[in-house]
Amino acid sequence: HSRRIEGLDKNVWVELTKLAADHAVVNLGQGFPDFSPPNFVKDAFTRAINGDFNQYTMASGHPPLVKILAKFFGKLLEQDIDPFTEVLVTVGAYEALFCFFQALIDDDDEVIIIEPFFDCYESMVRMAGGQPVYILLRPKPVSGRLMTSADWVLDPAELANKFNKHTKAIVINTPNNPLGKVFNREELQMIADLCVKHNVLCISDEVYEWLVYDANKHVRIASLPGMWERTITVGSAGKTFSATGWKVGWAIGPKDIVRHLQTVHQNSNYHCATPAQQAVAEGFMKEFGRLGAPDSYFTNLRQELQLKRDRLAACLMSVGLKPIVPEGGYYLIVDITGVKVDLPVSTDTEEPHDYRFVKWLITNKGLATIPVSTFYSSDHKKDFENFIRFCFVKEDSTLSKAEKILQEWK
Ligand code: PMP
Ligand code: GLN
Repeated sequence: HSRRIEGLDKNVWVELTKLAADHAVVNLGQGFPDFSPPNFVKDAFTRAINGDFNQYTMASGHPPLVKILAKFFGKLLEQDIDPFTEVLVTVGAYEALFCFFQALIDDDDEVIIIEPFFDCYESMVRMAGGQPVYILLRPKPVSGRLMTSADWVLDPAELANKFNKHTKAIVINTPNNPLGKVFNREELQMIADLCVKHNVLCISDEVYEWLVYDANKHVRIASLPGMWERTITVGSAGKTFSATGWKVGWAIGPKDIVRHLQTVHQNSNYHCATPAQQAVAEGFMKEFGRLGAPDSYFTNLRQELQLKRDRLAACLMSVGLKPIVPEGGYYLIVDITGVKVDLPVSTDTEEPHDYRFVKWLITNKGLATIPVSTFYSSDHKKDFENFIRFCFVKEDSTLSKAEKILQEWK
């Protein structure tokens, strides 16, 4: 194999999704809804196929989709966006991220990654020949209340120290997977100031942008002064319309950067399925007219998910576990330090505790979750091996089944 893929063969989603399938579990592991996308996008997909949107479309994106994405995000970012040069439609957010790193990272360029991080950032930086440079979100001790994702913060001086003449880019993910942290304006401003000062690019993964709870607001770093020209904002129709299998994503940014992503995309995937793009375009057209209104799908999904978050958190507390309440996204992480179980002896002494715990939970209790050490660099996995991640974008009946397992086990 090539040097590019050295050490990248193990993949948590491949491994644990298979284990969960083999054991017919209650699945709060991999992040996908177990309910249907809304009818207005499903119907649009069927119409697209019957209306013969079945052949190739434009490489950078199906014209109706790039046009509505430019209009929609132009409004949110308060920026004129050109649909044909500043938007790239990709095979899921995964491909948008991949194109960014392939197009912009050279050998030994440094890319700053905030831990915990969605695991593919590390592999993608490595495949591009770059060097990941990690900085931790550190939990601040709290007393007399539950910890929330807002209690996990960056140290400004430590972050400033990570920037040097080799730094090419920083990856932001807000709301964050797996923690659910929603970076506030001050935090993003601090990052933006460093990007401007050191002339560093920013890739902002905002696939959970519609899912922010309580009084939290999703702030787009590309909307801060001096950031549009150096930021690529990534989104996902999978998360936006609860259709993860459609694999439609996008990258939005200034044409001088987007054109390099286009070069990678047009020479690798060329484009993603035309009827899926047509359906997502119609979905956004419908949402544009009702943005922020009570009948908006984005508004409704957020409200439903906040209830599911609260329900899962309450259940975990009732069995003596300590959830870290997420401000956004659809995951919740839980401290398992106090949970005493007889885990089988592992042959792999390096295997973090949470991995062993999660495998035991799948095989012995029929409940799938994800070990949080997955989302840490090898140097830090052992420091964060006492958390597991639950996904709560699930039917209430699924959450009930999970509750039953937890309560009977207690
Ligand atoms: N970024 C984050 C933070 C994610 O959690 C995911 C998983 N859905 C992706 C990117 C990939 O998204 P997609 O399914 O659209 O490729
Ligand atoms: N983003 C989803 C998660 O974090 C799924 C990732 C995947 O299956 N590759 O669970």
